[in-house]
Parts: sequence; structure tokens; C-alpha cells
Amino acid sequence: MLARNEDIEGVVDSMRQLEDRFNYKFSYPWVFLNDEPFNDEFMRRTSILTRGNVSYGLIPQEHWVQPEWIDEHKAYAARRQMMFDGIIYGSSVSYRNMCRFNSGFFYRHPLVQQYRYYWRVEPDVRFYCNIDYDPFLKMQDDGKVYGFTMALKELKKTIPTLWQTVREYIGQNPDSIHPDNALRFLSDDYGQSYNLCHFWSNFEIADMEFWRGETYTKFFEHLDRAGGFYYERWGDAPIHSIAAGLFLPKEKLHFFSDVGYKHSVFQHCPQGEEHVRGRCWCNPQDNFGMSRRA
Ligand code: GDP
Ligand code: MN
Repeated sequence: MLARNEDIEGVVDSMRQLEDRFNYKFSYPWVFLNDEPFNDEFMRRTSILTRGNVSYGLIPQEHWVQPEWIDEHKAYAARRQMMFDGIIYGSSVSYRNMCRFNSGFFYRHPLVQQYRYYWRVEPDVRFYCNIDYDPFLKMQDDGKVYGFTMALKELKKTIPTLWQTVREYIGQNPDSIHPDNALRFLSDDYGQSYNLCHFWSNFEIADMEFWRGETYTKFFEHLDRAGGFYYERWGDAPIHSIAAGLFLPKEKLHFFSDVGYKHSVFQHCPQGEEHVRGRCWCNPQDNFGMSRRA
């Protein structure tokens, strides 16, 4: 979990739920990362909630701050314009640092490097159901690489040039595309344009070998050099989704339909037998995947 010291109330809220519904049986370790050192209160209040090992990492500056080759005048103008356009986090540099870190750096942190699979957790989320099996083993046994619970549409104004930058990369690296990819999830016109669909990356269970591999590493490098993290407001969600959708066969994507989950105002609530088996407490009629907005 990436978090700030002041996120502590939301952090313990999310952590307690995941422990109660899942991890008390498995005792998987927690890794907390921050661009500033965690304080004693943060460490005290989180470490007592689990029997698993807990570690606290500081993110190196070069994985977090706006790179020096970004033209700050141009970046500033973009932030200003987005603020006038009323785009959420449009004026924030730290939000952009966070999106870039989640796109290209979290899996390189020394505390994370020893692991192959991760479950991304955010402050203030809800887990509605029991998870009685080991989702990491499921990923491994079924050969899955990227697991999600919800897919939304990105705000177009945050990524005006992302798709053309992706297409540039593919033009230079045509072999990176998997023949059995999920392009139809990402594009309604055979790749001419991006339809803005993305897996909501505040929940992710995934195999970091994919992010660490040559294709994604080169892809991230290409996007990073284009500067869109700062000249626009590229999110890690569309970037992860586009990479998973183009470079993997679609059978390696996994919909965790049995994980009841809520982040901000949207939730995925398991249906039917899965709702019963998980002893879920969400309302099955309040389910983003069935709404007209999905
Ligand atoms: P949203 O989900 O897009 O609304 O963004 P959040 O505010 O939830 O941020 C996403 C994740 O990054 C959460 O886990 C936050 O705690 C974390 N985060 C966001 N900004 C910062 C930051 O400046 N520093 C640190 N350490 N974590 C951050
Ligand atoms: Mn969030």
C-alpha cells in the first residue's frame, strides 16, 4: 500500500477489513511505501492489525519527483489549464508523481523486489466478502497475470495524447503485441482510437514479472520520455490496462468477480452464488458492472 502519514485512518480501515475477511488465515506480509518517512503512529497502528510481517519503505527521490528533463513551464501551463477545466487532481504535482510511480516504479522498490505477486490496497476502500482461498496461488496456478474487479472510462482530458504515444511504441515494436490480445476491450475501431476503458487500478492483484519484463519496461520508458505524466495527467490505470490488454493474451487477465469491493463511489458486488459463498454484505443490486455507466 502506498500511503501518506495523514492517510492513517483510511489505511487502518482498509487493512482491518482485508485482515478480517482474508489475511488472518494467510498472514501474508504487508509492505507500506511512502515518499516521506512513516511516523511512529502510522507504524504502531498498522503493525498491530496483522500477524503477518509488516515493512515500511521510503521511496527513492528518483522514483518519485518530476524528472529534470520535464519542461516545468509546459507542465505548469498544463496544470493551470486542467485546474480551469475542473479536472480532478488537475493542478496536483504529487498526484502526477503518484501515477508515474504506480506505473513504472513500485515493483522496483527493494521491499517489493523480493515478491512476484502483489495485491494493491488503498486507504478507505471496502472489502465486502470473505475470501477463503488464496488469490495469489490462484493467479499462479491458472497462469494469470493481471487481476481486476472493475473497469471504468478514463477522463479524456487527462490523456489526450496517450493513445498516439502507445501507437508510436507499437510502430517501433510491432512484435510486442500479443496475437490473442484484448484490443477489443480498449478500442472500438480496431486500434484507431482508445475507447477510454481501463481496469480500475486501485484494486490490482498481479504478477510483477510482467511489469519487470522487457516489453513493459521499454513501453514505460517510451511513455515516460513523452512526458504525458506531467504535460497531461496520465494515470497508472489506463497505462496498466493498455499494456495488459495489448501485450498479454486475454486469458491471462482475470476478473475477480467474487471479491466485493468499493473505492470512492463505485463498487463491485458479487452476484448469486458468489454473494452467498462470500457472506457478502453489499447490496447485489448496487453493482457497477451492471449499471448503465459501465
Ligand atoms: P484516487 O484513488 O485516484 O482518488 O487517488 P488517491 O488519493 O486514493 O491516491 C492513490 C494512492 O496513492 C493511495 O494509496 C494514496 O494513499 C496514495 N498517494 C496519493 N498521493 C500520494 C502522495 O503524495 N504520497 C504518498 N506517499 N502516497 C500518495
Ligand atoms: Mn484512491
